[in-house]
Amino acid sequence: MPNARRSKISPRGGIDLGGTKIQAAIVTADGEVIGDARRPTPTNGGPEDVAHEMVEALVEAAEKAGTQTDSLAGIGVGSPGNVDAATGEVAQARNLPGWEQAFPLAARLSDSLGAEVRVGNDVDVATNGEFRLGAGKPYRSLLGVFWGTGVGGGLILEGRRWLGRGAAGEIGHMVVRQGGRRCPCGRRGCMEAYAGRAAMEAKARRDLAHGEKTELLEIMKKHGKDRLTSSIWDRALRHDDPLAVSLIDEAVKALATGIASAVNLLDIEAVVIGGGLGVRLGEPYVERIRKRMGRHLFLDGQPPAVELAALGDFGGAIGASLLFDE
Ligand SMILES: [Zn+2]
Repeated sequence: MPNARRSKISPRGGIDLGGTKIQAAIVTADGEVIGDARRPTPTNGGPEDVAHEMVEALVEAAEKAGTQTDSLAGIGVGSPGNVDAATGEVAQARNLPGWEQAFPLAARLSDSLGAEVRVGNDVDVATNGEFRLGAGKPYRSLLGVFWGTGVGGGLILEGRRWLGRGAAGEIGHMVVRQGGRRCPCGRRGCMEAYAGRAAMEAKARRDLAHGEKTELLEIMKKHGKDRLTSSIWDRALRHDDPLAVSLIDEAVKALATGIASAVNLLDIEAVVIGGGLGVRLGEPYVERIRKRMGRHLFLDGQPPAVELAALGDFGGAIGASLLFDE
């Protein structure tokens, strides 16, 4: 088969590099996932160790799809940290182990996988995925909110990604309480200080040390985890664990306040809520955010659509694969 034709119909690879897990997928040109694999993100070591797991995950996903990585039309990566899309280097990925200095992620993956690799910002590629193929399809302007380890945001305005000077969409660092709780970013009162899973876990551990009643850590140990993953929060909520319920209530309020403020500024048509915790807790919690936003919206008779991300756990990987569609 001639090469040009093959590259048109070949599927692409997509890797979502998260603070907790690495999700790899093989994705057709129509956005259908035909093979997938997932690994925990290493908590020790450095970028080399993370890259190694990414390679393993994509090779496994390709095997499941009945293909090989070197016959993919390209491999897109959604990464946290400072991403240089032109060089494929990533620096200061703070949720990943030992990853301060710039690391040539695209080149390292390309060497092992035998295909071209492009790297984009994790939240931007996930927002673009929802815009092109998911819950954002009917709209021309939207805000993607990714509620997970941190709280990331991506913006599409008039059908185009809005990057500002490169760092737009940091909704997690909208201030929802002046002088409030310390955020993982070091500042005070950010939305993420109340809603990010890492910040919520730190708060839960502090409260436990002060004698609060909670089964969060027992549930975590029982399920063989060493951190409070989305599924642990979900289980604790189902058991009506009082600390889990109160921390998630605070998270919902912080999300609603920050998102409504962003809507007051931008008057976007829609908000899409995804991320590990957003997808896991699903529509009932999206509904709570939607309701709670009402009290902060300036045009409260004209709220934006607030939708649950439609691409689910694969949103980041599918969005990353779209880096080869532009
Ligand atoms: Zn912050």
